[in-house]
Amino acid sequence: MKDLIVIGAGCAGLTAALYAARAGKSVLILDAEGIGGQITAAPAVENYPGVPVMSGMEFADRLYEQVTKLGVEMELTTVQRIEDGKDHKTVITEDGNFEAKAIIIATGAKHRHLDVPGEEKFSGHGVSYCAMCDGAFFKGRPVAVIGGGNTALTDALYLAATCSSVVIIHRREEFRADADLVARAKKLPNIQWVLNSVVEEFLGTANLSSIRIYNKVTEKRDEIPADAAFIAIGQEPSNAAFASLAVTDAEGYFVAGEDGTTKTSGIYVAGDCRAKALHQLTTAAADGANAAMSAWKRG
Ligand code: NAP
Repeated sequence: MKDLIVIGAGCAGLTAALYAARAGKSVLILDAEGIGGQITAAPAVENYPGVPVMSGMEFADRLYEQVTKLGVEMELTTVQRIEDGKDHKTVITEDGNFEAKAIIIATGAKHRHLDVPGEEKFSGHGVSYCAMCDGAFFKGRPVAVIGGGNTALTDALYLAATCSSVVIIHRREEFRADADLVARAKKLPNIQWVLNSVVEEFLGTANLSSIRIYNKVTEKRDEIPADAAFIAIGQEPSNAAFASLAVTDAEGYFVAGEDGTTKTSGIYVAGDCRAKALHQLTTAAADGANAAMSAWKRG
């Protein structure tokens, strides 16, 4: 039995493992997909203190190396549920059961979908949720980014360096993204802006070739040629499997304070799966550290 099992190997989970291991605890991390979580899709991390610029992949690799050097173990498996025993918790996975005195759930969030016709059909054939992963396939070709947050603007800047043109399609006139990202994008001649507009349908034959949009102000429809559409409209949490152990809000995020404690003794939450004002690498790291401390304070 481990002192701690961390579910999720993103920034919050790896930081929790780092702090717990440095406090002398035995730690096992479980993740269905691999290390790093969402940050691995970020072309550039530019707002982590002390790290002027680094790819999200490199950030994740370095953090993982830092953690495993301390003896933390990792298993690639999908967690199905947690059983809350008297003396310990049992994590039921598709590859067997794992036991620990405490659990930190740091399962993050996943990409939100537009749920419009053609989105599923062209997924993997032009429709993508990861510019970093798929952008290189569209070098020299016209692409679109949907969304107005930091992810959309970061993606657009990344794609503009290699694609012939990038159309940003956003449902409002104002941007949620940081002003400096918007200003940088506005300076690039191959970025075009389609505002106050929503995507109605992704069109094409075998692959995506255009996007039908509806302008909410002019009430006109238009078809925008694009070989790829990168959907960057935010995330939703992956907490359903644990909803009986911790309180969740209307969107499914865990409701917990900074210390990550939940209504179930010995179960803590950390990172993007927790409801909070700012979902960032910095706050994920802070959550991981706090949840680890809560777990080891308990003994
Ligand atoms: P976000 O900040 O929630 O922005 C989502 C964007 O998508 C918003 O512009 C939103 O429009 C739009 N949207 C949401 N649902 C939509 C729908 N159904 N149809 C059309 N548009 C829709 O998400 P994010 O950009 O992924 O960022 C998530 C978090 O990660 C944020 O805290 C962000 O700061 C952080 N992040 C930081 C960096 C960085 O600093 N380098 C990079 C990436 C992400 P409205 O504005 O109209 O709501």
